[in-house]
Amino acid sequence: MEYKVNGLLLRATDYKENDKIVTLLTAERGKLTAVLRGVRKNGAKLKFAAQPFCFAEYVLAEKSGRNTVTAVTQADGFYELREDIVAFYAASAVCEVCDVIQPEGDGATDLFFLAIRALRDMCTGNVTGALVGFLWKALAVAGYALSCDVCANCGAELGEGDGEERKIFFDFPSGTFTCGACKKGAGVSPTTLYILRKADGTDCPGMETDDGKKRAIKLLSRYFTFRTEEPIHSLAELLTVL
Ligand SMILES: [Zn+2]
Repeated sequence: MEYKVNGLLLRATDYKENDKIVTLLTAERGKLTAVLRGVRKNGAKLKFAAQPFCFAEYVLAEKSGRNTVTAVTQADGFYELREDIVAFYAASAVCEVCDVIQPEGDGATDLFFLAIRALRDMCTGNVTGALVGFLWKALAVAGYALSCDVCANCGAELGEGDGEERKIFFDFPSGTFTCGACKKGAGVSPTTLYILRKADGTDCPGMETDDGKKRAIKLLSRYFTFRTEEPIHSLAELLTVL
């Protein structure tokens, strides 16, 4: 049986002498794997389909539960993201996160559209902003949604009040933010909170700084690994070059 899917390449691993096994996140069938035959031979026509961030319509033939790619029409290769080290790691992190949280063989998924949107956004130059937004929403898709509206303990506005009260804290086990009076977990800078609130779509006063974005990525990365017990290697690499 042949069928078509719109897929984003998450991973490609060598298989047999000349083949690759690709892991795709698809709009129609969630995550699936398929064999790309002969793509490691010189001049193979479908070589592009095993390149990082390939977004394409894949035609798959299914036989006894195994998929083989028979044709690929590329929609976007996101080539720009391969030419810059920061963009490359950020885009790789999007794919890695999808791979961890999307179970194999599940139905249609919102995650696919979130990932494509993030990669498109990254191509316009908004690399770290797009990544924070993606991580924030991906955590929600995975069932680990965060909320940074108010203090989770007393309901006070975060970052308001005088002196110590203005401080903000984040507690990894409960995934909650607290004010300086309730103080649970590790300290979070106001610029980090601003970036997270922006990712959440909340309109708030504040400053967008590179340092704030880096700290926000660090926090979301740590929280993600805390919940899933899976380290995201590209995020670790990204944090070393930011
Ligand atoms: Zn409080």
